[in-house]
Amino acid sequence: MFKQTTWEKSLIFELSIPGRIGYEVAELSDKEKSLLSQSKQRIHPDLMRKKRLDLPEVSELSVVRHFTRLSQMNYGVDTGFYPLGSCTMKYNPKICDFVTTFPEAQNIHPYQDPSTVQGSLQIMFKLAKWLAELSGMSKVTLQPAAGAHGEYTGIMIVRKYHESQGNLEKKTEIIIPDSAHGTNPATATMCGFKTVIIPSNEDGCVDLEALRSAVTDRTAGMMLTNPNTLGIFEQNIEDIIKIIHDVDGLAYYDGANFNAIMGKVRPGDMGFDIVHFNLHKTFATPHGGGGPGAGPVGVITRLEPFLPVPTVDFDPDTQTYFFQYDHPFSIGKVRSYFGNFSIILRAFTYILRLGNEGLKAVSEMAVLNANYMKSLCQTIKGFSVPYGKDSFCMHEFVLSSKQILRDTNISALDISKFIIDRGFHPPTVYFPLIVPEALMIEPTETEPKKMLDDFIQILKDISRLVYSDQEEERNQILEAPCNTSVRRIDDVKAARNPILSYRMLKQQEE
Ligand SMILES: *Cc1c(COP(=O)(O)O)cnc(C)c1O
Repeated sequence: MFKQTTWEKSLIFELSIPGRIGYEVAELSDKEKSLLSQSKQRIHPDLMRKKRLDLPEVSELSVVRHFTRLSQMNYGVDTGFYPLGSCTMKYNPKICDFVTTFPEAQNIHPYQDPSTVQGSLQIMFKLAKWLAELSGMSKVTLQPAAGAHGEYTGIMIVRKYHESQGNLEKKTEIIIPDSAHGTNPATATMCGFKTVIIPSNEDGCVDLEALRSAVTDRTAGMMLTNPNTLGIFEQNIEDIIKIIHDVDGLAYYDGANFNAIMGKVRPGDMGFDIVHFNLHKTFATPHGGGGPGAGPVGVITRLEPFLPVPTVDFDPDTQTYFFQYDHPFSIGKVRSYFGNFSIILRAFTYILRLGNEGLKAVSEMAVLNANYMKSLCQTIKGFSVPYGKDSFCMHEFVLSSKQILRDTNISALDISKFIIDRGFHPPTVYFPLIVPEALMIEPTETEPKKMLDDFIQILKDISRLVYSDQEEERNQILEAPCNTSVRRIDDVKAARNPILSYRMLKQQEE
């Protein structure tokens, strides 16, 4: 029986007792003091700090206990099964985290002379090359800090490309299927394009007729996820890309689902021009709660001049790695410094550890796990798979509980809360938008069959409970979660009235 810990709810600020000390910084040595007094800029905390910081005063022991308790009120990939569709809650081998603790990784600074960080540059250079190889692109930038940031980078490249052709005034639209992740239309809009949404066909794929009628001379490009967010591989991918290329549009590949196809097919071979990766979804890195992540972007040869500066290059004459700023048509810099290095290092380690065959096996296991679950879940009373019911899925599938809502008035949200009560993280709900009462299930490739079976059993239990004629059995679902640190949260209030810091809480109270 799952029961999440509940501890006292004090904030660390409320545990503060004046005079308590958690850590003492050593006195400056005489040498340090004399260096400091010589420094022209007078770098000294007392001179730079503008006001008192109001930090909590707590002992080391209270700090450790406080955060240990908080972690026990949380749920993560190290706690249990986390089938959060589209997010790819990856198993993160501990070696990837371990490598980032090396002093060579931790004690470097972006302003250091490149001659002193050749190893780090080599890692960046190699990772970019491997990503290019895996995706069939010609060159990759590691700068973007997230998938959405990669999209922004890619669509700015689309913009700059049309500008360089003297066509920007004409090329005003980006085509996006209605199954797309919300970041796609947001990106197109942010980059100054008009978004043209096209409906999916009954198989959940791009409707070629709808695409043909949406494509015009105004089409600057198309953003496509393949496999798409329904977990379905686009059957007519080459036709789709030809239609876009025929009007001089560029084909953008949203690579958030790349873990389904690693080492199997390459977006470049499908005809795509620009690809983003989510290193935090495909190549290790613990993620969730907003980062940090990395969203490298790869392009075909023709688009290399538009990449952000700098890229990491290798000079064979001097055998050194260096930052290349010579990109005359560059969209500019998209991030301070050179990217999230610790995430880059984790992805590098992950790929190095697994190798070609290992990466291929990751994709195969992800697809096998998803198909195993899909085939069993869709036979449970009340649940169905509206798209791709009779075909194989890729690394995820979208279940619908609309029959349960119709028969019993119990929603996908209620179901997901009950799943939490059983000690599992629920699937993504209500996305993609084209599936009513969607439960988007993505089992991590490293989960054993027993774990998948346990999850399927929960859905069976739910089906039994919702169709029960006993009021209290139905109520078990409606009242969930009961076994968690916090019960149902008022999502709307949290979104409308977010209190995200101690200072905001204090202001609210006053
Ligand atoms: C996660 C995701 C994104 C956005 O990536 P972030 O790293 O969260 O910004 C874009 N598209 C799809 C299909 C995704 O699953």
